[in-house]
Amino acid sequence: NTEVTKEYAEKENADAIIIAVGSTPLVPPIPGLDGDNVVVVNNYYKEKEKVGDNVVVMGGGLAGCECAVHLGQDGKKVSIIEMRDMLAPDANVRHRPLLLQQIDKYVDVHTGLKAVKVTADGVLCEDKDGNEVMVEGSSVICALGQRSRTDVVNELLDAAPFVRVIGDAAKVSTITNAVYWGYHAALDI
Ligand SMILES: Cc1cc2nc3c(=O)[nH]c(=O)nc-3n(C[C@H](O)[C@H](O)[C@H](O)COP(=O)(O)OP(=O)(O)OC[C@H]3O[C@@H](n4cnc5c(N)ncnc54)[C@H](O)[C@@H]3O)c2cc1C
Repeated sequence: NTEVTKEYAEKENADAIIIAVGSTPLVPPIPGLDGDNVVVVNNYYKEKEKVGDNVVVMGGGLAGCECAVHLGQDGKKVSIIEMRDMLAPDANVRHRPLLLQQIDKYVDVHTGLKAVKVTADGVLCEDKDGNEVMVEGSSVICALGQRSRTDVVNELLDAAPFVRVIGDAAKVSTITNAVYWGYHAALDI
């Protein structure tokens, strides 16, 4: 319950600050994405009762894929929409094939589609030739990625003689990298 602001940091007068303020979910201004039928993947466990039996997951990165498999294992009908041609390209090389096996089992995959509008009946998309495709579902999970909290980072960059930015605040990544970069930042003080 303490927010680090520039004023707070200056009052503390620290010799070193490691900025590890993380990231926020990316929710682009797609019409309907602010609707009641949409749950942002980060909030899934807090809002799971809002998710019905026919779900469209927007975003086929690691978070979207794992969420889709989870919903499929829960007995829901699940579709994934992904703009690129492949799912979770950044996933760990050992984990990815196992994840894709689960995707094949539980999820209806639509790659090469860009979501343009969310409605009560699902997500309206465009394919690469500009054709409209409707992916149907009563609930939508928004898993379109994360963005570093650069506003907070920029505010604090000159708030101490030694400042280091680590984890998702530096580059949206994984727990392993956040811990690794944090360890090295501490060694450098
Ligand atoms: C849905 C989802 C699933 C994921 N699954 C995995 C996974 O399975 N494995 C994996 O390795 N990674 C996973 N990740 C990524 C992982 O969560 C992040 O890479 C990791 O949490 C980054 O750690 P961090 O400490 O940099 O930031 P965070 O964990 O985001 O922590 C930042 C903290 O700073 C606080 N904060 C922000 N601003 C201020 C301020 N001004 N003052 C004080 N405090 C502030 C925030 O409240 C937050 O608690 C997932 C991410 C998402 C979104």
